[in-house]
Amino acid sequence: MKPDNKRYITCPFCSLHCDDIQVEVNDNRFKVISENIKDCTSKIEYFNIKNTSNLTAMFKNKKITFKKAIDSARRMINRSDDITLVNHGTDVNGVRSLLNFAASYNCVVDHVNSKYLYRNLGIIQRKGYMATSLTETRNRSDVVILFGNNILKKSPRLIDKVIFPKHSLCTNPKSRKLILVGDFDTGSVKKIKSKHHVKHLKTNLNDTPEILTKLVSEDKLSKNLEEIRKTIKKSKYLVASWTTSDFDKCHDPDYIISSISDFILSMNKTSRAACMPIAGSLADATSSQTMSWITGFPSRVKFNGKSFFHDRNICNGEEIISNRNTDLAIHISTVNHNKVMLNDKVKNIFIGHINSTFNIRPDIFIPVGNPGIDHQGIMFRTDNVVSVLLDKIRENDLLSTQDVVNMLSEVDD
Ligand code: SF4
Repeated sequence: MKPDNKRYITCPFCSLHCDDIQVEVNDNRFKVISENIKDCTSKIEYFNIKNTSNLTAMFKNKKITFKKAIDSARRMINRSDDITLVNHGTDVNGVRSLLNFAASYNCVVDHVNSKYLYRNLGIIQRKGYMATSLTETRNRSDVVILFGNNILKKSPRLIDKVIFPKHSLCTNPKSRKLILVGDFDTGSVKKIKSKHHVKHLKTNLNDTPEILTKLVSEDKLSKNLEEIRKTIKKSKYLVASWTTSDFDKCHDPDYIISSISDFILSMNKTSRAACMPIAGSLADATSSQTMSWITGFPSRVKFNGKSFFHDRNICNGEEIISNRNTDLAIHISTVNHNKVMLNDKVKNIFIGHINSTFNIRPDIFIPVGNPGIDHQGIMFRTDNVVSVLLDKIRENDLLSTQDVVNMLSEVDD
């Protein structure tokens, strides 16, 4: 890599996968130089190599060679009676390799955020649903309602890239209106309000269904709600967005999501409206898309000889591990900033990026590269209509998840 090398990258670290991030790479260190993405800079630069980075494989607390780690992991795999694969975020080829491995060793494959996926899917399966893409929202919507509290922290550029972009094909983003329903951070709301039309309905998210019922009623409402109702009534293309994990602390997250979907369906009687749920930042959409086209199911699949089956309850990786219905968990994590929770009731092999942190040390740690930094890869954007190509920007010997998982699948000589 030449010094002073400036280039654009596609960011792998949340499901928006922005492709306009300019970085400068010097001596294998990358620095974000795009002015407009301050909120994401630390998120991206977190993946630089630091003094604390784990570039070497480990057996418990002891550093070991990469070959020894692969040999030890294969021994552990061959001795185990049941293996559960837990995906904490990897690219398309990483997921493919997990499925190949699972077919050889009769494993369960689950993504750590599957519970959020199933909350949204439940509505699609049971009630009917209308969705839209990021691009359609950016180009056509006139009112956007965000439900939640942390969605703007989890997807920091949702405002700049999708809701209030500089340019839009069919609408003037300056006249677009944003309604925030939930407990949004006052400072962030103030910042957005200083530039755009924003209404914040500060409320407990548990009250969402009741609020939506009021908004489609003819009842007399409080001043704030009345203004929101007027905005909604006038809208020609309304988009409702949320990230399911924001409802974690609610009494009944499924009911809340269902009420938003019902509200959107009812809006379509007189105008156009659609849902735009935002997936988690652990390559959730990449996992569900890849698993769907290979197995027909978006997650929670158990291989069994030449066949496999899907059951969202029986194949729940977290439950299987905590109930000790498996004796070996293999965790894969290439884009996760947060501490990964391992369970010491089972053996743990961790195939992860060099700055991974855990609650307990895994039995075996095998370092791998980040897709989009150490090797090329493909990931799916949250709306599932775009897959993005990620490039390599740093030189090192780190292999990809696919390389390592394929090595673990190889039969001993
Ligand atoms: S919004 Fe997400 S994809 Fe875009 S730069 Fe920030 S972390 Fe990366």
